[in-house]
Amino acid sequence: MPSIDLHSHSTASDGLLTPSALVARAVAQGVAVLALTDHDDTGGLAEAMAAATGTPLTLVAGAELSATYETHTIHVVGLHIDPTNEALQQGLRTIREGRDRRAHRIAAALAEAGIPDAYAGARKYVTSERLISRSHFARYLVEQGRAKNTREVFKRYLTAGKPGYVAHAWASVPQAVGWIHAAGGQAVLAHPGRYAVTATGMRGLLAEFRDAGGDAIEVVSPSHTAAQYEEYAGYARVFGLLASAGSDYHGPGEGALDLGGLPPLPAGATAVWSAW
Ligand code: AMP
Ligand code: MN
Ligand code: MN
Ligand code: MN
Repeated sequence: MPSIDLHSHSTASDGLLTPSALVARAVAQGVAVLALTDHDDTGGLAEAMAAATGTPLTLVAGAELSATYETHTIHVVGLHIDPTNEALQQGLRTIREGRDRRAHRIAAALAEAGIPDAYAGARKYVTSERLISRSHFARYLVEQGRAKNTREVFKRYLTAGKPGYVAHAWASVPQAVGWIHAAGGQAVLAHPGRYAVTATGMRGLLAEFRDAGGDAIEVVSPSHTAAQYEEYAGYARVFGLLASAGSDYHGPGEGALDLGGLPPLPAGATAVWSAW
């Protein structure tokens, strides 16, 4: 089976590689189909498309939208979106708009916890003037010796209940799905196994996502265990959703999986790309 990876990031959001370098690495790793899915922005797609031209790799235009379900931040990946769609771009601007204010609040919370100057520190890692992310704070805190890697920073400082975490309202789930559909794309619930919900809460989220018109869920993701691949393939079947797979690659040295390193979907799962 060709290598298909439908979730990745570049310097247009919080990835470490430029869109061209990301595509080159995916080609070198034997990826046949790669979706670039930067957070809340499509600014890297033109460069990625150009870089893929003349290579064996097919680039899928994507984005990963930040949304809020009840009190939880969730992510919805859009695949095969038209980046020129005005409804989508207006939606993405709305989502991005709160990020800088949130970053100042994160910095204030970290200052309270004895870590000063984190806003300026995080800014040094920002690679797109349109988007500051918790990842940029995480890289600064590693630089400051607060933890040995970004994963540890998130665990200690930047996730719900920790000193540098601030609540934030993103788009609603129906808005995120609606903007992706307006742009002709398919909506995929990203890494569901990462959300801190009970089994009942997961069914509630999946029902809301499906009722909003959602198309698929990520089944294979580095955020999931092998047992969760089966679990989410089962949820996909029950909720009538397709199954997706993505490495959520952010760059060398970050994350558990390299481009092209994804295991296959569980047997019996209907892939989101089956109709492409
Ligand atoms: P933001 O959209 O600014 O809230 O940042 C979310 C990003 O932080 C995600 O896309 C990941 O890149 C990163 N992230 C979130 N949780 C973790 C975690 N537990 N470990 C490492 N990175 C994380
Ligand atoms: Mn990220
Ligand atoms: Mn995500
Ligand atoms: Mn991601």
